[in-house]
Amino acid sequence: AEDIIRKSSKLSAVGELAAGVAHEIRNPLTSIQGFLQFLEPKYEDKHYFEIMLSEIDRIKLIIGELLVLSKPQAEKNEYKDVRVICQMIINLFEAQAHLNNVQINTEYDADLPNIWCEENQLKQVFVNILKNAIESMPNGGNITVKVTAKDDHHVSIYFIDNGIGMEQERVERLGEPFYSTKEKGTGLGLMVSFRIIENHNGKIMIKSEKNKGTTVEVILPVSTGQN
Ligand code: ADP
Ligand code: MG
Repeated sequence: AEDIIRKSSKLSAVGELAAGVAHEIRNPLTSIQGFLQFLEPKYEDKHYFEIMLSEIDRIKLIIGELLVLSKPQAEKNEYKDVRVICQMIINLFEAQAHLNNVQINTEYDADLPNIWCEENQLKQVFVNILKNAIESMPNGGNITVKVTAKDDHHVSIYFIDNGIGMEQERVERLGEPFYSTKEKGTGLGLMVSFRIIENHNGKIMIKSEKNKGTTVEVILPVSTGQN
């Protein structure tokens, strides 16, 4: 697990560059999309427009995953209750989970300190991890989200699934940009999540067993020590 953390640090320059490029691509892309939509009614053969517009959607998905890193919006760090942030994201996924026969259970410590964090960035991390958990269970299953005090100064958020899991060598590659085993995956979700948690002086630990499931633990310090 220590290895994973160190690797993600080495990749941070790549992440930063990619995020910057994504930011620059967004505006010209939106302009191309607009002109395509404007031209479409003038042409008989809609097929090519469908392809072009769906390819633009694909680029936008990739850019969307990278933009959180390029910090175009002002960051707002505050003391927040992670249980509340977690629950907001779980509610967001309720319909998708239900559709996939996935049951999400929660276990929250009753007494927890608030965490010094950027709420929108943490939401992004929880979205990325929960999405992966749901996607790992094509035939349904259970996810447990557990928020608990790790020690006096750290809170752990566990995302436990009983999905397809992975071999150790794959676990070691997690967080590499564009590393995905999914047909429509971007391979950016975990890289972005590693970066965000690193910015919070936290850690992400991943344990997985092929055909058994995966546990992702996000460890966050109560205060970053810098503030
Ligand atoms: P993407 O989801 O777009 O593929 P991610 O960075 O979110 O990109 O994840 C990278 C890869 O890590 C996935 O393609 C998958 O192989 C693996 N992975 C992540 N989370 C899980 C999980 N909960 N169960 C099994 N495999 C996972
Ligand atoms: Mg993903």
